[in-house]
Amino acid sequence: MSEQGDSSLQQLMAGLAHELNTPLGAIRSNRDVLQRAISRLLDILADDVVDASEIEQIRGLVNTLDEVVEIDQVAVDVITDLVASARSLWQTDEAVKRSVDLRKVLDSTLLLLGHELKHRIEVVKEYGDLPTVECLPGQMNQVFMNLILNASQVIPEKGTITIRTRSSDGYAVVEISDSGPGIAPDDLERIFDVGFTTKQTKSGMGLGLGISKDIIERQGGRIEVESTPGEGATFRVLVPHAAESSAAR
Ligand code: ADP
Repeated sequence: MSEQGDSSLQQLMAGLAHELNTPLGAIRSNRDVLQRAISRLLDILADDVVDASEIEQIRGLVNTLDEVVEIDQVAVDVITDLVASARSLWQTDEAVKRSVDLRKVLDSTLLLLGHELKHRIEVVKEYGDLPTVECLPGQMNQVFMNLILNASQVIPEKGTITIRTRSSDGYAVVEISDSGPGIAPDDLERIFDVGFTTKQTKSGMGLGLGISKDIIERQGGRIEVESTPGEGATFRVLVPHAAESSAAR
């Protein structure tokens, strides 16, 4: 990427800024949760006597604090991996790959997107057996984040996102289907192009799918998409099993 000069650097920076939005959004929304929880705790503790029902409330609030810590931890891991992968792209030396279970990566992505999805999107998990793959978990997190976020953004009000995993022909397969409006046949060929977007908002930069395709192809895999307009879309990520991907290098 570096030999392509300034425009590549701009693209890298724009991509990084785009990808940082989700973990930063999670941390920002957690800050509000923290402030509310702390002010309720202070209210309860303001008078010196704490009764049984208040102890229950305190337990609930401490559980909330515990969840906030867990989500912040995932968000910080994602930011750390993003910075490491941006650095490794720029310096072109390989970051260290790990053997990972993509179901665990999906779960941490979902944890991070919790505040975007709750109340509106039902997430159905149909996880089948999955062999481990060798990859940068933070980059896979980025891919799933892009796909799940896109699915949630195209669903107008309430809807469903179904996530399936299985093993097929030497590949670990992850499918993300949504109950959104689907994709017009003409657009299907262009959605992975950098800069293609149908979103009217500022966040629509047409980067997410291009970045995701690039990440997966660098691991010897591919992303497929199927859609019938009016019946939602399915994005399928195929990553070679650990043995195949090391043989391919
Ligand atoms: P952006 O999200 O900034 O538009 P992406 O590269 O992530 O960029 O997506 C490009 C375009 O692909 C979107 O604007 C949208 O038109 C289309 N798209 C992506 N995912 C879906 C989906 N699940 N359903 C319908 N259209 C989609």
